[in-house]
Amino acid sequence: MRKKVIAGNWKMNKVLAEAEQFIADTKNSVPANDKVESVVCAPFVYLAALVDKAAGSDVKIAAQNMHFEDDGAFTGEVSPVMLKDIGVTYVVLGHSERREYFAETDETVNKKAHAAFNHGLTPIVCVGETLEQRESNETMTLVEDQVKKALAGLSEAQVKETIIAYEPIWAIGTGKTATSEQANEVCTHIRKVVAEAVSADAAEAVRIQYGGSVKPANVDELLSQSDIDGALVGGASLEADSFLKLVEAGA
Ligand code: PGA
Repeated sequence: MRKKVIAGNWKMNKVLAEAEQFIADTKNSVPANDKVESVVCAPFVYLAALVDKAAGSDVKIAAQNMHFEDDGAFTGEVSPVMLKDIGVTYVVLGHSERREYFAETDETVNKKAHAAFNHGLTPIVCVGETLEQRESNETMTLVEDQVKKALAGLSEAQVKETIIAYEPIWAIGTGKTATSEQANEVCTHIRKVVAEAVSADAAEAVRIQYGGSVKPANVDELLSQSDIDGALVGGASLEADSFLKLVEAGA
């Protein structure tokens, strides 16, 4: 059985005191078992403080992005070496907001995935289509292309450790969730793509999250689907109670 992963993506929200309070409110309540893991994806400036706050608990701290180079003249960037150094364990790569507003491409996502593994970070690689692409029946080919490009050159062992987040862009922050069938259909396709591109074992092991307006009211239905192994959650992850409900749904 694949362990479910519930990841709260705070995006560009919270001030330090709120971020620390969230960890204080959740760290002793997340289930410590082999069914679910709890990840908080926080802004860079809070990561070191949150790793410290979450120490000894089962809340894992993730970055929302990083650069692929180890160090050098890249003003404003944060490297995988730095994230590893402060105890971050996961990193979100290729979120649609990064692709749309910050020129993230399939190629940079792939470089970042390699860089993550080179430094012992687990990547959460985001893929997903726009409404226009869905309406013109391009979802499956687009997602297939994004997945293949993101995973290119990774070893089978690395692919097994990767988390893929399927996030239809039209469902992010809009309150429009894909139906559980729509979400699962794409996640099943992603698993098939991994089987063909890498191996059946990798496809069996890789964890595929759904993201896009996930909330306590719809998470059970989504997680009950055959190929959905967790959720990447924005809005509904900002409050500790709501995040804990989402994690409990995976347990
Ligand atoms: P949402 O965001 O849950 O607010 O729709 C999801 C995401 O962008 O990861």
